[in-house]
Amino acid sequence: MIIVLKPSTPPEQIQLFADKLCNDYEVKVNRWDGVHSTVLGLIGDTHTVDIEYIDAQDIVESVKRVQEPYKKANRKFHPENTVIKISDNVSIGDGSLQIMAGPCSVESEDQIVEIAKKVKNSGATLLRGGAFKPRTSPYAFQGLKSEGLDLLKLARKETGLPIVSEIMRTEHIDMFENVDVIQVGARNMQNFDLLKELGKTQKPILLKRGLSATIEEWLMSAEYIMAGGNDNVILCERGIRTYENYTRNTLDISAVPIVKKLSHLPVVVDPSHASGKSWLVEPLAMAAVAAGADGLIIEVHNDPPHALSDGAQSLTPEQFDKIAEKLVALKACLK
Ligand code: PEP
Ligand code: MN
Repeated sequence: MIIVLKPSTPPEQIQLFADKLCNDYEVKVNRWDGVHSTVLGLIGDTHTVDIEYIDAQDIVESVKRVQEPYKKANRKFHPENTVIKISDNVSIGDGSLQIMAGPCSVESEDQIVEIAKKVKNSGATLLRGGAFKPRTSPYAFQGLKSEGLDLLKLARKETGLPIVSEIMRTEHIDMFENVDVIQVGARNMQNFDLLKELGKTQKPILLKRGLSATIEEWLMSAEYIMAGGNDNVILCERGIRTYENYTRNTLDISAVPIVKKLSHLPVVVDPSHASGKSWLVEPLAMAAVAAGADGLIIEVHNDPPHALSDGAQSLTPEQFDKIAEKLVALKACLK
């Protein structure tokens, strides 16, 4: 951390400030006296240093971190990729491509079991399905809630596919005990109480990037979960808000190699929510694999025009079948 002090700060005040920093934090302070101002360089464990407190001091002109504020998610301190075991035969982060597929919302037993069987036959390795739905309108379908989770478990029993579903409230963590991957949706990426509670579990967490979150904010949310003791975090790029409105969101494909450089956590891409249009799912999914994603999460519905949510971006099982084959072939080429 670099602190530039205001010109003409009396030397004794500088010394007092430097001594206080050494006492309050586990850091060493280096000092450079220039012609007009003095610069302090903090070396050591600076992640607990309150940058706003420093900035508010009368003698401080400016302060800047030179190291990332996330530690546990940082590749610098954990150079090898994190591999997360989801079930006996599904792991993510080990160089394989994991394809999560299924409807936006679980709607009925027939719907989820039919889709689960079809996506499994096409090569999906996990089944997705929303039971608790964060909808923009309070009048839109809100999900089948705990019944939806039961139906997902039934579909898992029929197919053997591990299940992924979104949690919205801390109070529901017990209800998700038997769900293989707990999704934290874009709207909850900074629900810090939820992240802290999920940090006390050992569940794999699929952490979606917030609608307008920077990469650093997203990694800091992963850090919340990891700081509690749960290292099983999978990051999911699902498109961000930009001024472009042709697509539902803008897929930030560069986030994939950036996050893989900054962090050791596996990265998944959601081309369905990124685009909002089913015809764009294939090219975006291919781009994600080419960019190095460890997995994809894709919405598939047996009857998209009548889906209770996100029909426009949902693939039919037949469309998914063709795309999954191409994705697997592309992944093989890249190896
Ligand atoms: C979803 O996966 O259905 C969903 C609501 O996603 P997001 O949080 O990315 O909008
Ligand atoms: Mn959806």
